[in-house]
Amino acid sequence: MVVVALAKDDKSPVTVADFAAQALVAKRLSETFPEMGFVGEESAQVLRTPEAKETLDQVTHFVQQVEPDATPEAVCDWIDWGAEEPTDTFWTLDPVDGTKGFLRGDQYAVALGYVKDGIVRVGALGCPELAAAVRPDKGGAGSLLIARRESGAWAGTLGSADGADADDDWQRLRVSERATCAETRLLCSVEKAHTDTRGIGLLAKTLGITADPVPMDSQAKYAVLAAGGGDVNLRLISPSRPDYREKIWDQAAGSIIVEQAGGRVTDLSGTPLDFSQGRTLANNRGVLATNGLLHDALLAGLKKIGA
Ligand code: AMP
Ligand code: MG
Repeated sequence: MVVVALAKDDKSPVTVADFAAQALVAKRLSETFPEMGFVGEESAQVLRTPEAKETLDQVTHFVQQVEPDATPEAVCDWIDWGAEEPTDTFWTLDPVDGTKGFLRGDQYAVALGYVKDGIVRVGALGCPELAAAVRPDKGGAGSLLIARRESGAWAGTLGSADGADADDDWQRLRVSERATCAETRLLCSVEKAHTDTRGIGLLAKTLGITADPVPMDSQAKYAVLAAGGGDVNLRLISPSRPDYREKIWDQAAGSIIVEQAGGRVTDLSGTPLDFSQGRTLANNRGVLATNGLLHDALLAGLKKIGA
C-alpha cells in the first residue's frame, strides 16, 4: 500500500515515490546533460528537517536499489537540483504526476519534458497503470510514451523500455479522427478541486456532447488523447482557485506528445502554451488539448460559456 509521506505547504500530498523518482531522474540527467538546467516539482527542504528523518531513510532505501552508493545527503542534493529557476534550456520533471491517483491506485505518470527557448522539444510519459496507451484502462505492463518535435509520438510497453525487444514494440501514435461534437469523448480531472465540473457540464450541453466525461488522473489523459482513445483533454479553472496557473511539469511532456500525434494544444482562449515564464504557464489560463479537428468548436463553446 502507498501512503502519504508528508503534506506540502499547499496541503497536497507527497509520497516517498515522488522524492525517490525525482532524486533518481536528477542524478541520471546531471550525469548525461550536466550543462542543462533541471526544474522538478519536489524540494528536499522538508526532508532535511529532523522530523522527516524516517521518511528520508525510506527514500534513500528506494534510491539505493538503483544507485547503491546513495546517501541521505546526496539524495537531498539531487532532489534540490530541481529547485532551480528555468533557464533557456532545461528539463522539467513531475516525478509522480497525479499523486492523488497514485494513492488511490488509479492513473499516475512520471512526466519529463525538455524545453528550449520556451518551447517543449522532447517529452516522455511513463504510465504504469495505463494499458497499451489506447484506453483509459488500468492494468498490464504499463505504457511508455515519447515524442520529439518533428519526429512524431510513439508508445511502447513500459516493461520493455530498456529491454532487447523494445524495437519491436513501438507504435506511432495518432489522435482520433472524430470531428462531430455530439460524440466527443472528453477527458477531465478526477479531482474536483483541479477543474470546474459545472463548467464542463455547461460546455457539454452547449455543444450537444452526449457522452459522459471520462475522469482520469494525471497526464495519462494526454496519453489516451494522443493514442486516439479520447478526443479532448480539458483543464477548466477551478472556481475555488480562479488565479491558478498551470505548472510547467504538469503540461510539458503531455502537450508535445499530443501535438506530435497530430493534435492541438492551447489554453482556454486559443493561445499557445508559453513555457518561457518560469515554473508556471503565467501567460496562459487552463488548457485545451484536442485531436485538432474539434479544437475550434471547443474554443467557440468555451467562449460561449465564458470559461
Ligand atoms: P489531474 O490529475 O489532471 O487533476 O492533475 C494533477 C495536477 O493538478 C497536480 O500535479 C497539481 O499540480 C495540479 N493542480 C493542483 N491544484 C490545481 C488547481 N487548483 N487547478 C488545476 N490544477 C491543479
Ligand atoms: Mg503533477
